[in-house]
Amino acid sequence: MRTVAVLGSTGSIGRQALEVAEILTGEIKVTALAGGRNIELLAAQAKKFHPNVVAIAAKEQYQALKLALTGTGIKVLAGEEGITEIAAGPDSQMVLAAIVGIAGLKPTLAAVKAGKYIALANKETLVTAGSVVRQEAAKSGADILPVDSEHSAIWQCLRAGRREEVENLILTASGGPFRTWAAHELMQVTVQEALSHPNWKMGPKITVDSATMMNKGLEILEARWLFDIPLAQIQVLIHPESVVHSLVEFVDGAIIGQLGLPDMRLPIQLAFTYPARLKTPWPRLQLAERTLTFEEPDTKRFPCLRLAREAGEKGGTAPTVLNAANEVAVTNFLSGQLAFVDIPKVIEEVLAAHELMGDVTLETIFFADEWARDQTRRVMHKE
Ligand code: MG
Repeated sequence: MRTVAVLGSTGSIGRQALEVAEILTGEIKVTALAGGRNIELLAAQAKKFHPNVVAIAAKEQYQALKLALTGTGIKVLAGEEGITEIAAGPDSQMVLAAIVGIAGLKPTLAAVKAGKYIALANKETLVTAGSVVRQEAAKSGADILPVDSEHSAIWQCLRAGRREEVENLILTASGGPFRTWAAHELMQVTVQEALSHPNWKMGPKITVDSATMMNKGLEILEARWLFDIPLAQIQVLIHPESVVHSLVEFVDGAIIGQLGLPDMRLPIQLAFTYPARLKTPWPRLQLAERTLTFEEPDTKRFPCLRLAREAGEKGGTAPTVLNAANEVAVTNFLSGQLAFVDIPKVIEEVLAAHELMGDVTLETIFFADEWARDQTRRVMHKE
């Protein structure tokens, strides 16, 4: 029985992970939970799964959570320290890192240093601190298992050959809701339109990232560290049906892909039960009912893809700046203060003003992250 800590349990991935945990009774046990600020849901999850320990990120909610769990014997922690304690602590062999944004970095790194199995759903960890995470994982023996559907697909396809036989990783992208929109139509995009993804049900931040294609940009950077492969060997292919989750092209020209319905429960389960595959009760892909299409991405209409690759090629703190500027820009788009087409413009301007710090440490990452957030606000307010 594998013990699992679910960090970000009240978010979209966290909730689906608990659904998977429910049917994996006997395989895994949820021994720790951490949530952001949704205290009702977090308390309900704790009462259902009876973990040893629960943490809430919002410190001001500590007393209320403690009160809600009175008599359960569940230990209650709060703040980033509390979540980091859970990540590194003895209650779990595996940590599902599903906290959204840079807030997930410290706890995830703590779990890496503790040598655990990391089921990684937080993109920012590898985008901003890929080199640090790889070094620490090599030291501690931590196993990083992808939960992102594309990376899980590549991970599965890589079983078909040896590492030196890999020519390219091919990340598929749905292209989002605006794939067929003309450039002038993109200028009128509303928040509502950006939040309606054709295939996947996800949290708001990643849904907007899918619409701008920054999500795929971040995934290129994630793949670069996860699979230790140069950016030049990572390609993006538009596949509107989201059935082929990604592919690997080998040196002999063989292309191996992983197919399935767009359902995060499969990659979550595969990470939970790694290296085993277990039977699932969910609907299956019916290939005879499907037509699959593919096309090249258009970085003119969707410049975020180009910006992410450029930031990755620069290296150092550039990916951190890209990520932070994007987070701020997306938040402002969601609150109606920034136009959809201005998201990449703002990010490009912030990146251009950044003085690269080549030495990637936690200190330079957090410094660059803070700087980029401030700079993004300055750029948006034309200061
Ligand atoms: Mg993905």
